[in-house]
Formats: sequence, C-alpha cells, structure tokens
Amino acid sequence: MTNKILIVAGDGIGPEVMGQVERVIDWYSAKRKFDVEIDRELVGGCCYDAHGVAVTDETIEKALASDAVFLGAVGGPKWDNVPYEGRPEAGLLRLRKDLELFANLRPALCFPALADASSLKREIVEGLDIMIVRELTGGVYFGEPKIIEDIGNGERRGIDTQVYVTSEIRRIASVAFELARKRDNRVMSVEKRNVMKSGVLWYEEVIKLHEEQYSDVKLEHMLADNCAMQLVRNPKQFDVIVTDNLFGDVLSDIASMLTGSLGMLPSASLGAKDANGKAKAMYEPVHGSAPDIAGTGAANPIASILSFAMALRYTFDRGACADLLEKAVDAVLANGLRTGDIMQDGMKKVGTVEMGDAILAELDRLNA
Ligand code: NAD
Repeated sequence: MTNKILIVAGDGIGPEVMGQVERVIDWYSAKRKFDVEIDRELVGGCCYDAHGVAVTDETIEKALASDAVFLGAVGGPKWDNVPYEGRPEAGLLRLRKDLELFANLRPALCFPALADASSLKREIVEGLDIMIVRELTGGVYFGEPKIIEDIGNGERRGIDTQVYVTSEIRRIASVAFELARKRDNRVMSVEKRNVMKSGVLWYEEVIKLHEEQYSDVKLEHMLADNCAMQLVRNPKQFDVIVTDNLFGDVLSDIASMLTGSLGMLPSASLGAKDANGKAKAMYEPVHGSAPDIAGTGAANPIASILSFAMALRYTFDRGACADLLEKAVDAVLANGLRTGDIMQDGMKKVGTVEMGDAILAELDRLNA
C-alpha cells in the first residue's frame, strides 16, 4: 500500500532541512521498498503571504487524508505584525487541532559522539534513549474556569483548572503502552496523586487500563517532582514516561536538554486510531525557523531526519528502517562531522546539504 506523506516545510530553515528529509525518503523508496506518494503545501508565514491565512482549508483536507504530515518550522520576524489569526503559529495550531493530535512524543536520545555536549556527565547520558509521552489537548492549559477575577479589597484571583476525564487518560496511556511494546516494554506513569485529585484519577485509570489490556508491559508510577529529579540524576532508568500536559511540558524540556542541541531533537504528535488501526500523525523537529541562519545553508537537518525515523517506526511500522537511519546519523557523528550548532574542537564543520550527503552515504554503506 502506498504511504501518503504531506510535507509542509514552512518558513526560515524549514525548507532547507525538509529538503534533506526528502532525499532520505527517496533513498528509502529506492533501496528499502518504501512506497510513498509525497504532496507539498505551504504553512506558516509563506502561506500567509500567498493566501492571507497561515494554513488553507485545502491543506487541512490533504493533511487529514495523509498517513503522516511532516512539518519543517514556521515563523520569523517578517510576520511579527500580521493580524493575530494570520500569524504563522496559527497554521501549526490548526493542524494540531484539526488532526486531533492529543499525544506528543518527545524522545531524548543521546548519541555517544555527542555525550560531551550535554551539561551532565558523559556516563549519565551516553546511550540515553527515553520517550516522554505528553497529553497535549487537556489538563490545566485548557480546563475551565480559566479566569482572572476581581474579589474586592484590591485583591484579584487567577484561576486555572486542572481537569481530566477517564477517556482522556486512557487514550494517552494507551499510546504510551503501545510505544513501550515497540521499545523496552516499560512505562513510568507520572502525576502528583499525593496532592491532586486529577492525579489520583490518573493513577487509578492507568492501573485499570494496564490490567485490562497491557499487563505484558511493566508499569511503574512516580510523582512528578521526583521524576524531574530522577531525570537529571539517573535518566537511563526510564523507557517511556507518560504524563499530563503541564508536567509533560516541563519534563520533556528537561529531558531534551540532556542530549545537547536543539538541532538534534525530533518530535511526533499522534491522534486517535481509526477503524484500520492508523493514527493521524504529524512529525516535526522541536526547533523553530532559526531566522538568524536561514538561507545560509548552515542548519542542522538531523532533528528533521530523526523525525522521519520516528515516522518509520510509529506510523509506517518499519522499525528496522528507523534503526538503520538512527545508526547512519550516529555513524556520521562518530566520523566527526558537525553542523555549526553542535560543532566541537577537532571536528569537521559542514553545512545542511553536506550533512545530508554524509547521512545518505552512511545509509548506503550500512545497507551494502
Ligand atoms: P529557533 O529554534 O528557531 O532558534 C533558536 C536558536 O537555535 C537559534 O540561534 C537558531 O539558529 C538555532 N537553531 C535552531 N534550529 C537549528 C538547526 N536545525 N540547526 C542549527 N541551529 C539551529 O527559536 P527562536 O529563535 O526562538 O524562534 C525563531 C522563530 O521560530 C520564531 O518566529 C518562533 O515563533 C518560531 N518557532 C517555531 C517553532 C515551530 O515551527 N514548531 C518552534 C519554535 C519557534
């Protein structure tokens, strides 16, 4: 069956890094029978320039009909003063909303060659491979009431509401359990049931789902504050961490920085599975459009290329192909090639296209 991919490269370095992803996709279709049909559309500032909106209805339709959407990055100073509804991020947010992407996956993978770039000691991060699964559409960022009110005597009260229902907890936990089965088969569920009712519910519902459907996966629980500490003390103890929107926001940023540069961090956002067992999915690097280096050919394409590796594993069920791509990236780094953002003494500095060339050459070598 032909895999359908929609590429929305976006602004700034987006098209530069996505250009390298396209070369990698071509490699897989030529060498690994990855049958693919690619469509390309505008999103972000470039779409606003062309159509007066950050994403068109037609692009949303195409995204809904695709197996996976690949986003580069959106935004830049050029669009700082466009109307609020037309700002580049609105395109990204609408894609996430219309595809109902409720699960955000942020891996923290530390390549041995970059272990010294971390702020932690090499032995703590070398070989690190964890996955944070963050609930993306519920919790305290969306719960009502969400207000600031005047309560007299010069006092004001700010209210945010942390709220989760059973189905929201079950669907995110189920994403985590399924991911764990493709990894080291361990899930750490993180909440604060010691002080929050939503945490008690989270804890109980995760246990229930585990007993019903996922008892083959090892499940453990940890309070969010302890998890933050454990992530910097001994991050390699984790496999998959599943948590709510707020804790996930903080914990995924801690985890990602364990591994060094923004230019290395992929991500995925997944929706619910349809009748055929396929989930809507969008893959994107964590970094933005990097206007400071856009157009100079200096951007690191690895975050986007690793996002494609995630798609191979989680949307296209081609785990061995994903492993191969991660191995190729690892080998290129071990050979001493670096883009500017990850440059170290004694290494060879290369640009976006040369990094792409080197990864393709490694794929050829590993595939021989
Ligand atoms: P940024 O991630 O674009 O850049 C931060 C710094 O990291 C810059 O110095 C940049 O040169 C560097 N950097 C980022 N990615 C890199 C890569 N692949 N290779 C080499 N260096 C890289 O964040 P910012 O500067 O805060 O934001 C710039 C624009 O991007 C803004 O308009 C912002 O709104 C937008 N943004 C978009 C997304 C997204 O599309 N998902 C995410 C974050 C920021």
